[in-house]
Amino acid sequence: MRALIIGGILQAAAIASYATLAFSGTSTRLFALVMAGDNFSISFAGVALVAYMSSLTNIGYTATQYALLSSTYAWLGKILKGFSGAEVENLSTTHGLIHGYGIFFIACGLTGLPAVPLSEAHGVEGPRVLAVIDEDWCIGCTLCIKACPVDSIVGLNKQMHTVVEDQCTGCELCIPVCPVDCISLVPAHADTPAPTGWAAWPQALADQAQERYAFHKIRVVRAKAEHDARLQAKAEHKLAHLEEASKLTDKAQLDQKRAVIEAALARARARREPPKA
Ligand code: SF4
Ligand code: SF4
Repeated sequence: MRALIIGGILQAAAIASYATLAFSGTSTRLFALVMAGDNFSISFAGVALVAYMSSLTNIGYTATQYALLSSTYAWLGKILKGFSGAEVENLSTTHGLIHGYGIFFIACGLTGLPAVPLSEAHGVEGPRVLAVIDEDWCIGCTLCIKACPVDSIVGLNKQMHTVVEDQCTGCELCIPVCPVDCISLVPAHADTPAPTGWAAWPQALADQAQERYAFHKIRVVRAKAEHDARLQAKAEHKLAHLEEASKLTDKAQLDQKRAVIEAALARARARREPPKA
């Protein structure tokens, strides 16, 4: 996978480097350099891609699966390149033909950017892990419950918390929020070597986690609405009984406090009600 990502980045850079020919005048040496870079990157990425796709195929249906994979990755590029002439022509009307080509090659190189977030700098695929809470150390602050995107942690305020293993995705989001560092990760599989990728995380589990995440988002919105409604009811009650509930006796001060509460209530209502079209 690492070689594939490097190949993708090299190839994008090699394509963009053709723009230097448009902007730097005539240079046979530069032309040879750009061509050499392009050929090297194509070869590198091609070998890495063949090796990667071969690793995805089954020995019984290698040819069929390989044909399917290679057609799938190629079809978008083949369709898009049909429009390349029209795009250069369009650019040449405003930038001239040579500079139009330069801009076109830079834009082509930029299409390689989506490969960058897949690089190992943004995480590596590894064995699946589960979060485990050391219940002797847990202080019941509930911060991990708020951080868990699939609601797989149970516990009450000031009581020990625990992770429901079947539901934990190992996303690690609960770990940095714990103020007493009592959450750790353990392997989800006992096998050696531990499975990774889809072998460790089958589609059924992924679908289940997706559903739990969707429910979590609904629950968060509902909990906030209920919390806001409780605060509003409390403020309205206070407003209605301001004189009895307040220690203030001066009428001007009471009026000022009433105005502050009314303004806060108006802001809260405005936040809840969508703006009228
Ligand atoms: S690792 Fe992720 S899914 Fe598991 S308990 Fe922590 S936040 Fe929840
Ligand atoms: S964040 Fe840590 S201390 Fe707080 S409830 Fe979760 S596990 Fe316990």
